[in-house]
Amino acid sequence: MSRIKLATIWLDGCSGCHMSLLDIDEAILAVAEKADIVYGPLVDAQAFPEGVDVTLVEGAVSSREDLNNVRMVRARSRIVVALGDCAVTGNVPAMRNSIPAAKLLHRIYVEGSQTNARVPNQGVPPLLPQARPVHDFIKVDYHLPGCPPKPALILGLLTELLNGRAATLPVVKFG
Ligand code: SF4
Repeated sequence: MSRIKLATIWLDGCSGCHMSLLDIDEAILAVAEKADIVYGPLVDAQAFPEGVDVTLVEGAVSSREDLNNVRMVRARSRIVVALGDCAVTGNVPAMRNSIPAAKLLHRIYVEGSQTNARVPNQGVPPLLPQARPVHDFIKVDYHLPGCPPKPALILGLLTELLNGRAATLPVVKFG
């Protein structure tokens, strides 16, 4: 069996889901026997490659940059996993959703600033009107809830997928 190409990506999240992935501890060695991590904050890859087998997506889709990234992930990945409650439901990033984005930015960068009070237009990707779960924008193959998901659940999912098996509950498969 050829080695699996595994990627991870971090949208609007706190990195806690990636920390939980690292918390599988020495089991990461078993993952490394089956898979090459080809993209993500855990490796020094410059670009998301074509032909990825499994991608774990942390975080909600909150900005135009997130949207471009998640669409690229879908186009280049055979299996996409929404990793954690922010990716699955919007969770913490979605707490802003009742406030119009322009009003929110003004409150933070203008009303809340002592100096240089202006909404930045460089270096900050434009916000979408709301922070939304990943499946609102692309087809998601597996949803792994939790804030963050327990390491044992992440390992269980990876073990199934890296061995070419469809995962079963408690991971929820849509479609
Ligand atoms: S689900 Fe929880 S741990 Fe994961 S990115 Fe969101 S807030 Fe952080």
